[in-house]
Amino acid sequence: MSQKSVVLDAPTPEPRQVTVEALQAHILEKLTYSIGKDPIVARPHDWLAATIFAVRDRIMDRWMESSRETWRTSNKRVYYLSLEFLIGRLMRDAMSNAGLMEPVQQALTNLGVDLGDLIDLEPDAALGNGGLGRLAACFMESMASLKIPAYGYGIRYAHGLFRQEMSEGWQVELPEEWLAHGNPWEFERRESAYEIGFGGHVEGVTDPDGELRQEWHPNEHLLAVAFDTPIVGWRAARVNTLRLWSAQPIDPILLDKFNSGDHIGALEESARAEAITRVLYPADSTPAGQELRLRQEYFFSSASLQDIVRRHLQQYGDLGSLPDKVAIQLNDTHPAISIAEMMRILIDIHGVEWDEAWTLTRGVFGYTNHTLLPEALESWPVALLERLLPRHMQIVYAINAEILTEARKRAKFTDEQIARVSLIDEQNGRRVRMGQLAFVGSHKINGVSALHTELMKQTVFSDLHKLYPDRINNKTNGITPRRWLMQCNPGLTSLLSETIGDAFLDDIRKLEELGAYADDPSFQKRFAAVKLENKTRLAELIRERLGVRVSPEAMFDVQIKRIHEYKRQLLNIIQAVAAYDEIRAHPERDFVPRVKIFAGKAAPSYWNAKLVIKLINDVARVINNDPAVRGLLKVVFLPNYNVSLAEVIVPAADLSEQISTAGMEASGTGNMKFMANGALTIGTMDGANVEMHEEVGDDNIVIFGLTTDEVAAKRAKSEVPRSAIDASPDLQEALNAIASGVFSPDDPNRYRDLVSGLYDTDWFMVARDFDAYVAAQKRVDALWLDQSRWNRMAICNTAHVGFFSSDRTIRQYAEDIWGVQVPTA
Ligand SMILES: *Cc1c(COP(=O)(O)O)cnc(C)c1O
Repeated sequence: MSQKSVVLDAPTPEPRQVTVEALQAHILEKLTYSIGKDPIVARPHDWLAATIFAVRDRIMDRWMESSRETWRTSNKRVYYLSLEFLIGRLMRDAMSNAGLMEPVQQALTNLGVDLGDLIDLEPDAALGNGGLGRLAACFMESMASLKIPAYGYGIRYAHGLFRQEMSEGWQVELPEEWLAHGNPWEFERRESAYEIGFGGHVEGVTDPDGELRQEWHPNEHLLAVAFDTPIVGWRAARVNTLRLWSAQPIDPILLDKFNSGDHIGALEESARAEAITRVLYPADSTPAGQELRLRQEYFFSSASLQDIVRRHLQQYGDLGSLPDKVAIQLNDTHPAISIAEMMRILIDIHGVEWDEAWTLTRGVFGYTNHTLLPEALESWPVALLERLLPRHMQIVYAINAEILTEARKRAKFTDEQIARVSLIDEQNGRRVRMGQLAFVGSHKINGVSALHTELMKQTVFSDLHKLYPDRINNKTNGITPRRWLMQCNPGLTSLLSETIGDAFLDDIRKLEELGAYADDPSFQKRFAAVKLENKTRLAELIRERLGVRVSPEAMFDVQIKRIHEYKRQLLNIIQAVAAYDEIRAHPERDFVPRVKIFAGKAAPSYWNAKLVIKLINDVARVINNDPAVRGLLKVVFLPNYNVSLAEVIVPAADLSEQISTAGMEASGTGNMKFMANGALTIGTMDGANVEMHEEVGDDNIVIFGLTTDEVAAKRAKSEVPRSAIDASPDLQEALNAIASGVFSPDDPNRYRDLVSGLYDTDWFMVARDFDAYVAAQKRVDALWLDQSRWNRMAICNTAHVGFFSSDRTIRQYAEDIWGVQVPTA
């Protein structure tokens, strides 16, 4: 104890100066002494690493001060467990939040190096698939900005999400190499390593005092080693830690095997261990269902909980205070095995009684649900869990027995209801339902938009909601305005500062003051000029990457997100085909010139999604090369969608396509990024679009299509879409063209099945929403022709984005779920 106070009082080194001169000297010093390069021969990657090292040093003091403060004040810590963190690049984020952009830029200029070039060189940390992982990254930034003592826990995948390339319009997946040049942001913490076990058996042993305990004897062991990355809050308010685990063997090489000549066998154990954190599973919204995935989930859950409990005991010495000092948020069910692991740690390792352990466990955990698609709900075969995690399976059975007894006794549940709330699904060959496990082991369960939370109560969790009516709550997603407005759109940010002052930088709700300028012609003009500049930059990128020329004066109509049938890229591209037909049929008419921009990755095993990418590219080739189109329509598919590409596309968008089948998009966050940057949304009443509609009002968003209830009714009736297609000659013409090979002369049948699916069941309502979508696009065209009206709407969107800041979301989590005080400014 006395040693601890010595450590806390120890003087710190002088903070590094942030003057241009100091930075310049420091970057050179890093280049020489840390990278070992003479400036004369230094390559761009060397300058990047040197610059990051210099920036990093200026963050260290705040990082250490942040942890010291948490020890000193004994404030509650928040732990965000997520199998995905889709961070993107870190350098600009860190520099901007720490106020270092200008001095670093100047220092580099003095050294003859361009900061922009270095920024573009940094690889994306793509440790996530899409929205769920990006949300985790936004939350990390917001928690630091709001001065919440928070840790992110995840996996340090050696290979993040695959790199997407196009081969004749088809997606090909290539391994992603974000660590190829090393990672100057991370700190390996060899001392923070934990043993993780798998397999083996459980033995009941009787203690000297007569108590029966269960001992798990795994037959496989490996190490989880921590790698820490600093996450800098706005104005460096606080620097938090993202701790990612890497799997390593306990014995890197089995020397006896090696010496006896079995050189491959000697490394087998090592390869087996390292496989766990080798790659991110590339499926979005569908469980991988493979043993390696379950190993990943348990590996990072166990390492994180061991670390959390170790830290808690170190500071407080007892486990009874766990719920007062620790909040753990489960980002979807991927870390849900944590519920059983926490019980195991408390009971088997620390000798806590079952009832007490259950109270503590529920006290610390919260669970965020991200999807209601039945096929997307995670479950694991009982037999697999019994083999891989036998002690956890016992604990799951014991929890289940308690819950079912309570459901029978207290809530008088029927047998059907019991079967539905059970942690074991007996219908499909006995599987453990991870959503149910996460639900019963948490004190709060949240959805990610108002609509999604209502649907949670009505569908998947309706029985559990009856049993525990005060647990489900809503936390509408958000995005960090630092990355998604200030950093990615400096032109707009300067204009906003000049117009309403700087207060919005610290309180994004202040953007509402823009409302007063929405009708001001001179402000509109400047707002439009910024947009045009961003579009010119994107047009240049399109020309470079695709060789396609697009006019920045045309409307940029953008749909960028994972390719998924429920997101309905197919609806969008069919509409493009219909527009193409119309333009050719009416050479005498004026049309609003549009560039349709697509980007997104498909899960490698998701055939229909990959086929949609090919269709977009096929349609693009035909339309872009047909002189009869008169340049009025262009279609482009930009490969390898990731955070950095989004940061260029979003500020350049005029129209944001958020057209998922109603009831299927839990929230969406792409929609919010576009709104911040002054794009109009064309969208369905789905996810957070519903709340966007509420925030901006009917006049500032274009809503169309079936509602959630209407979709459900049509599905329940098994109504065939035939009549919708019969009633729409435009749709018929477009579908006939696609199905008959107009866009795929090399393989005329390529899209036959895709199109016939729309005649059969059309589960995603593409045919039945088509006419409404086309009509909505006509309304968009009419608005575009009145540029002053358009600009007014765009400004209103930026003005009302405040609600969708992840700062607001995090405040709500802190207040309603974590019981954490958020310091005000
Ligand atoms: C924001 C974001 C997403 C989520 O987009 P949605 O439109 O909400 O599906 C996915 N991927 C990346 C790279 C993002 O930046």
